[in-house]
Amino acid sequence: MYQEKHRFKKTLSALAVIFVELALMAATTAVFVVAFERVDAMRLAAAAAAKSSSSEVITQEKLDDGGFSSSSSGATQEFKQPDDWRLVLVNLDHELPQTYKANIVHKFNVDIDSRIADSYQQMRDAALKDNIKLWISSGYRSYEKQRQLFSEEIQAFYKNGISREEAVSKAARSVARPGCSEHITGLAVDLNGVLENFGDTKEFTWLQQHAQDYGFVLRYPKDKQHTTKIKFEPWHYRYVGVEHAKKMKALNMCLEEYVDYYNKNQAASH
Ligand SMILES: [Zn+2]
Repeated sequence: MYQEKHRFKKTLSALAVIFVELALMAATTAVFVVAFERVDAMRLAAAAAAKSSSSEVITQEKLDDGGFSSSSSGATQEFKQPDDWRLVLVNLDHELPQTYKANIVHKFNVDIDSRIADSYQQMRDAALKDNIKLWISSGYRSYEKQRQLFSEEIQAFYKNGISREEAVSKAARSVARPGCSEHITGLAVDLNGVLENFGDTKEFTWLQQHAQDYGFVLRYPKDKQHTTKIKFEPWHYRYVGVEHAKKMKALNMCLEEYVDYYNKNQAASH
């Protein structure tokens, strides 16, 4: 009996020891977990700090170059293309949707979408009556053609002894990244040979007054450079249809702004 009692006591004390040890282990683990969590939190904070300082650099860079550099924001996810093909938005943040169907024909010595051919011809004929000669120097450009132009531009910068990364970023400022130029839509035309001073010509003045009557808009206006992220291009016109072109002109909106406005109005009317 005594032996049994003794054994029982022994077992109890052994259990107590195990219990205490377990409690100690648990406490130690808790300390470690807290410590690890703190390290983790510190690491996250450090990462966040690094991130915010690098995006500040990007912002500063953007300010330095006038906001022309491309942004890799996730805008594509929230953005909805308008339900009107004439308003399809292609820019540095939005590539041409894969479902978009262009209808390319060879006309006026270039490739363009057949659906804008009549409107362009009417505009060209009306201009000619006012002694204004318009001609298309560039229309539709395929993805492959854009890729070629882009890599030629990179090579040109690369030769000047700058880093590849810098060459790519410089090239992106003068030539759109492949898939990001709206020439891929077939709805854009460069007029009269891409002249830097085209904005000072009587042809440009005529277009400013009449292009919207034929469904065309100046796609990259001088006062919208921060929105389009493309420098002023007086020669580049985009077909959007007469009613949209007239509204854009009246509201002084570039396509980015107008698409946003259009989508909001569409959503409100449904
Ligand atoms: Zn162009």
